[in-house]
Parts: sequence; C-alpha cells; structure tokens
Amino acid sequence: MKARQLGERDGWTCWLCGGAIDPALPPASRFAGTVDHVVPRSRGGRTEGGNLRLAHRTCNGHRADTLPELWWPEEFAALDASSLWTTIARLVRRPGSSELAAVFPTEALARRASAWAVEQACSFVGGDWMGWVEPVNVGHACAVHLSVEGGSDPGRPKVADARAGRRYRSRR
Ligand SMILES: [Zn+2]
Repeated sequence: MKARQLGERDGWTCWLCGGAIDPALPPASRFAGTVDHVVPRSRGGRTEGGNLRLAHRTCNGHRADTLPELWWPEEFAALDASSLWTTIARLVRRPGSSELAAVFPTEALARRASAWAVEQACSFVGGDWMGWVEPVNVGHACAVHLSVEGGSDPGRPKVADARAGRRYRSRR
C-alpha cells in the first residue's frame, strides 16, 4: 500500500502528530506523507492495511521502531493510568486474561473511559474487547478493566474517532 492510498483511505492527516499532510509535496520533503507501521516491522508488525498508517516523513523517522503511546484523554481525569497502548499490546498476547487499565474519580467517568478504550482497542488491533468498571474503595473512584478474545486481526482504523486523545511521545 502506498502513501497516496492511505491518504485516500484515512484522510490526509499524520497519525502521529495529528497534523495535515499536503499530498502535493514532493516525496522527499520532510513533511511528505509516508507509510508507517503501527507495530514496527522489527517487532513483527505486518505490511498489510490494518497495520499501516499515514505519517509525515519527519514524524515517522523520529518515531523509528518504538511503539506509539495512546494516552487517556484529559477529560476522563484518570487518577492512575498506564499507557493504554502498552495495556492493549500486553492483553493481545494473552487472550482471555484481563488487566486493570486505569482508575477514575467517579463511576460515570470510568464508564465513559471504558467505552472509549474498547473503541480504541477495536480500531487498532481488532478482536472482541470487553471493558468493565469496578469500585476501588477509595472515595467514589472506579477502575476500568479490559480483556480481549482474539485480536490477531489488526482491523481498520476509525480515524476521525481514533485521533481524539492520541498523542505520541518519543522514548529514548
Ligand atoms: Zn506528523
């Protein structure tokens, strides 16, 4: 799949920084669209539609072969959370297991966060995701737990929704 096909599929937006990509730029430009692997090839990521996203050349190069990070949107006011991507990646490797993904100050926020996380997970790696909420006995705080069956099918991204709340932070 070429950058142009990804642009037509997902819209001309860099999935790492969220910025616009100009399809008219010459391919060698720093800000031209390039094909990026969600799970890098060096980590076993496949070169097929569901694992490919459009990224600026400079963002793609900066990211190199690190995994992207997916952060909980600030509106959910997470009290304690790991990178959602890390949780998703771990769960996919252990189908049927579950994990506490994050803690939120109220049950209502936890329920919204749970629905959001399931949608993100489905759009990134496919599979049958479940999210549920349990109190943690600290004030009204509730934890979101996630589990998955399957998930080998990387699925098709829902770009307009998936972009919300996603930020990329490089790691050295
Ligand atoms: Zn970018």
